[in-house]
Amino acid sequence: MSNPRPEGPDVSIVVPVKDERDTLAPLYEKIRDTLDPLGERFEIIFIDDGSTDGSFEVMRNLYEKDARIRVLRFRVNHGKSPALAAGFANARGNIILTIDADLQDDPAEIPRLLEKLGEGYDLVSGWKKHRKDPLSKRWFSKIFNRVVAMASGIPLHDFNCGLKCYRREVLDQVQLYGEMHRFVPVIAGWYGFRIAEVIVTHHKRRSGISKFGNERIVRGLLDFGTVMFFTRYVQRPSHLFGRIGLGIGLLGVLLLLLSLIAVFAGWWMTGVVLSILSIFSLLTGFHSFFLGLVAEMLTFLHRREEPFFFINERLER
Ligand code: UDP
Ligand code: MG
Repeated sequence: MSNPRPEGPDVSIVVPVKDERDTLAPLYEKIRDTLDPLGERFEIIFIDDGSTDGSFEVMRNLYEKDARIRVLRFRVNHGKSPALAAGFANARGNIILTIDADLQDDPAEIPRLLEKLGEGYDLVSGWKKHRKDPLSKRWFSKIFNRVVAMASGIPLHDFNCGLKCYRREVLDQVQLYGEMHRFVPVIAGWYGFRIAEVIVTHHKRRSGISKFGNERIVRGLLDFGTVMFFTRYVQRPSHLFGRIGLGIGLLGVLLLLLSLIAVFAGWWMTGVVLSILSIFSLLTGFHSFFLGLVAEMLTFLHRREEPFFFINERLER
């Protein structure tokens, strides 16, 4: 991340943009009209994520009018997470706030997020409690959010909200890649940052199209598996693989016993089916167990490359 400059802004507003030419100017005006009266020192960083609808020209116009605007342009579309990551890496403020470019998130909510952060939190996430999206999307997303909240222990209702704000330290610690932007709160929570949630208004998309369909739920769940693995087991992979291996292996032993009983009882077909299942289970169990050892070996060999802890304060002489 770039270093904050003493004369720089306090707040960096990061806006990922893929084909949103109609909403950029009104979005900018709303942000300006919300923050100017508060005397907030801010910058707006638009990341043009490979737009092909003329969004860049709109951003260039805005940039020429207001010195607080910065524009970073990707050559091609990389995705929302890389766009956010580029914004984070270039932000000069000590507080970084993200907002979607399509005006579904309301810039009028920005002060409430900042206020909440000021109460002593490190990350504040919006919660689109009354979400204005198609029913299927809302439904899927509700299940997704429940699963993530339960499994991660981070009690948020809306991991995917575009409106979030962070203290710089959080983003220094949490690296973004793939489509991991949804899980910054999970990773941040795991590092011990204080997280809060604020209910925000949400609007229907008025122009342009959504860049995400329901297939994002599948990708989201897969990514979530990765996050859980990395936050809980990456330092001790054999605990995960070993457990799975032992579980399946024990099932194999049980099936073997049952198949023997079946054979003695004269139920030949049942015996054959059970013994086949038993062999599969035993093999899978062994493999998983040894995969855990191989993973453990990798962890051991790379143990110095990445610190998996984060020292917040030190008292020492
Ligand atoms: N976006 C982006 N790159 C992408 C897809 C989306 O920068 O590859 C931006 C998009 O322009 C918008 C935000 O991410 O500002 C959220 O996308 P969208 O509104 O399509 O998602 P939805 O609201 O449907 O969840
Ligand atoms: Mg949207």
